[in-house]
Amino acid sequence: MSSIKENIESFNQFGLSDEIIKAVKEIGYETPSPIQIKTIPVLVAGSDIIGQAQTGTGKTAAFALPILHNIDVGSRALQAIVLTPTRELAIQVAEAIHSYAKYLKNVRVLPVYGGQSIFQQVKHLRSGVQIIVGTPGRIMDHIRRETIQFSELKMVVLDEADEMLRMGFIDDVEWILSHTPKERQTALFSATMPKEVRRIAERHLQDAVNIEIERKTLTVPAIKQFYINVAESQKTDVLTKILEAESTDEVSVLVFQRTKMGCDKLVDKLKARGYSVEAMHGDMNQNQREAVIKQLKAGKVEIVVATDVAARGLDVDRIGIVINYDMPGDTESYVHRIGRTGRAGRTGKSILFVTPRQIRMKRD
Ligand code: AMP
Repeated sequence: MSSIKENIESFNQFGLSDEIIKAVKEIGYETPSPIQIKTIPVLVAGSDIIGQAQTGTGKTAAFALPILHNIDVGSRALQAIVLTPTRELAIQVAEAIHSYAKYLKNVRVLPVYGGQSIFQQVKHLRSGVQIIVGTPGRIMDHIRRETIQFSELKMVVLDEADEMLRMGFIDDVEWILSHTPKERQTALFSATMPKEVRRIAERHLQDAVNIEIERKTLTVPAIKQFYINVAESQKTDVLTKILEAESTDEVSVLVFQRTKMGCDKLVDKLKARGYSVEAMHGDMNQNQREAVIKQLKAGKVEIVVATDVAARGLDVDRIGIVINYDMPGDTESYVHRIGRTGRAGRTGKSILFVTPRQIRMKRD
């Protein structure tokens, strides 16, 4: 791997096509992020990779651009699959790939996940799709039904492998990998590296290049972080004051709540105070969640109150402020939460509510 350049400063230096570079620049990425500098040359060269990195580092583009570089647009056969732990992430990764492919002709990307009509998916698959982004369960379904064929598959990406492990999908992931051609290229991304994830890498990757993106590149400087000491009983009032002070015409606000019930309660209270606000949590079905994301993107909803699970992978440029109404369970979910703002090179702000009992937790 000595031929791989470390001193890359521009997207032009990766050897990607003009069409890909044009799309990336148009989206507003000026320079590649550290994970992109390390990953793109390895994947373009055809090697396997194990990347330890979290959301917010730019890892989607780090694997998406090489996928687009490597596929043969002259063929309609399936050439790359990306496995993700959740439907939300599948949709967002598929959208990202779609946006990077804007100037490439004849590239088709399909998100595939449970909860959506399988017949609809089969119809799309039959028409010829080169890239599939999906959750393991539904992809297994399609393999069994033989509605997905891997004969031309060149590349597999496992995104958030530790999350797939945590959600109990790791055997499914192995099963899928065992059905793919041996000659494929594999990229595994994971925020943490538990031994089960390492084992997958050992069994299914070949001569993989290891890369690690340090935690300090995580909290993007574009996000300004604040905290407020507040008594539990005063949280709603303080939240309303913040909402009054911030202009929600330009940006949307994402409020985190620990529980579904908490979400619904807060939504009711805010509605009563005249805000356009929606909840997003695990009790809502896919269509309901997608409707909320759509409204959020269109600026029709000012505030979304969400649980951690529902908001995972949420990538909406409009989100300018993240409010941690409830203290997150650990520092990792804090980083995930505030990473919902400051997207696509924009600036964001995060505010943490700290009750007297939580002052010690805040220091972490
Ligand atoms: P990800 O870690 O893939 O979820 O990406 C986090 C955010 O960073 C997304 O909103 C991307 O659109 C954005 N992003 C990715 N690469 C770059 C880049 N090179 N410059 C600026 N923003 C980027």
